[in-house]
Amino acid sequence: MNQRTSTRPLEVACPQCHKKVQWTDDNPHRPFCSKRCKMLDLGAWADESHRIAGEPAMDETEIDEMILRQERGEE
Ligand SMILES: [Zn+2]
Repeated sequence: MNQRTSTRPLEVACPQCHKKVQWTDDNPHRPFCSKRCKMLDLGAWADESHRIAGEPAMDETEIDEMILRQERGEE
């Protein structure tokens, strides 16, 4: 038999969108499916801790823009 079941990547559910995510070295954002979900989750967490300071929470559009800027090497 040539079935390589033992090397099949582990699948987890993304904590943010619950999509199936393959737990591999190719996915630096695991257990999230993407950087976007990771940032959204961090944003939700930041929302909690910043609520006292009265800072506005990042919305999804801001996170998308932030990721785009980072990927272009800007800050
Ligand atoms: Zn996700």
